[in-house]
Amino acid sequence: AKAEGRNTYRYYNQSLTAAASERLETETRLRRALELDHLEVFYQPQLDITTGALTGVEALVRWRDPEQGLIPPDRFIPVAEETGLIDRLGQQVLERACLQVAAWDRDGLPALDVAVNLSAHQIGDPRLCAKIRHALERSGLAPRRLVLEITESTLMTQAEGALGTLAGLKGLGVQVAIDDFGTGYSSLAYLKRFAIDWLKVDRCFVQDLPEDRNDAELTQTIVYMAHNLGLRVLAEGVETQAQLDFLTHLGCDGWQGFLCSPPLPPQELVARLESREGL
Ligand code: C2E
Ligand code: CA
Ligand code: CA
Ligand code: CA
Repeated sequence: AKAEGRNTYRYYNQSLTAAASERLETETRLRRALELDHLEVFYQPQLDITTGALTGVEALVRWRDPEQGLIPPDRFIPVAEETGLIDRLGQQVLERACLQVAAWDRDGLPALDVAVNLSAHQIGDPRLCAKIRHALERSGLAPRRLVLEITESTLMTQAEGALGTLAGLKGLGVQVAIDDFGTGYSSLAYLKRFAIDWLKVDRCFVQDLPEDRNDAELTQTIVYMAHNLGLRVLAEGVETQAQLDFLTHLGCDGWQGFLCSPPLPPQELVARLESREGL
């Protein structure tokens, strides 16, 4: 038994080392990708639930590696968070997204809002507001057209710092959305302290609609209470017409999901908008 214990220990130790070195490798490669400009931004449509009109897009980062191809954010955002590289990455995405929508304006596309994800690390950055102002000024985009998405869990863990940051963002005139809402056990009454415009209902509550009664009731409660607090609600991860019908019936304001489109490279999004079928 003793020998077995030692083996278990050694195995554990080795796998820790493997995980650590893999992380270090990702960090080194990501640092290089940032320098070489290998990050791209894809855009997923967001629609008005009553009119079906395209109202905005969410900017979602992708890493185009020359050898590995397209790497999804789940495989590098956590490392970027831990190492602080997320500050530079986030700023690149923000600047690029603002410039992109401003360019679409000039091309005569309908004026779209653009939603950009902010990480916990960025919320703790005292220069965040200045950086956002810089991106707005550089692109000429009206502040109102920028929506900053902050996850409910970031808000809960950074509550004190976030309060000041959100007040600063409000001062800039941008909109704020709470992402992945419903997963973090915060009460809506608590959220009232923050200056928020949107709640994004997490995909996990949407995926089993309309059959799952718990999810249906929960979503209904979120919509009802959010509206009472003057917030708008956007459902994410909508994949079926039945889900969309149900969310429409509940009075949701907006939606996004594969039923309309996955996140697309900018040229592909424009091509779809201009095609005869539309989105
Ligand atoms: P998120 O902010 O919750 O983004 C929504 C994710 O759900 C996206 O995954 C999107 O492709 C996916 N999605 C959208 N509609 C559907 C659907 O109908 N069904 C399913 N199954 N999935 C759908 P993606 O692009 O892989 O991004 C994953 C996460 O990575 C994001 O989750 C966000 O937390 C993070 N992320 C992406 N880009 C950035 C960024 O620029 N900055 C930061 N801080 N985080 C980012
Ligand atoms: Ca998001
Ligand atoms: Ca989300
Ligand atoms: Ca469920």
